[in-house]
Amino acid sequence: MGATSGPGRQAGGTPRAALADLLAGNRRFVSGQPVHGHDVTAAAAASGDQQPYAVVLGCIDSRVPLEAIFDQTFGAICVIRTGGHVLDRAVCGSIEYVVGQLGVPLVMVLGHERCGAVEATVRALRAGQRPGGSLAHLVDEIAPAVTEVGIDDPAVQPLAIRRHVRRTVGILRADDLLAGPVAAGRVAVVGGLYDLATGEVALIDPG
Ligand SMILES: [Zn+2]
Repeated sequence: MGATSGPGRQAGGTPRAALADLLAGNRRFVSGQPVHGHDVTAAAAASGDQQPYAVVLGCIDSRVPLEAIFDQTFGAICVIRTGGHVLDRAVCGSIEYVVGQLGVPLVMVLGHERCGAVEATVRALRAGQRPGGSLAHLVDEIAPAVTEVGIDDPAVQPLAIRRHVRRTVGILRADDLLAGPVAAGRVAVVGGLYDLATGEVALIDPG
């Protein structure tokens, strides 16, 4: 279990160490040698305190279970998932809490290829039809990335996925309660992209 106690897991750890630990977990997952994959048990759940070293904001997509793809055990990372990792006040408040109250030095925004939320936004914008209900919030929040790429670009979808990660990262870096720690180097907000085919996480905005 030594992989769970690297420098990223130490209290007061740096953003760099936290990122290294998180990406090391993804490499274990990709290589088919997770150390926690076999230990998702109630006993493991009961064995530790909450001492997270990263918060990961990802998509609700059922193919992207965040603890698994980073090979993390109970108490290691805080996970927030919304459609297309869209922000709202609850999400931002949760990240502010984890960073400010739990002392977590790393925030990762993780997009993924073939994201249905981005697909739906592209379709809605092309059709000129804004969906009803709260679904409209998702489309409204993803739309800027799609329009920045250009709705007629043949590669709008993969490009908008990346743009949307970078936009989300940018918003979080400028967040009222995060901007100070980010400027001081105590906290990093980074962007990643998950490849559904290989399981790999690539950094697309390392900060
Ligand atoms: Zn998605």
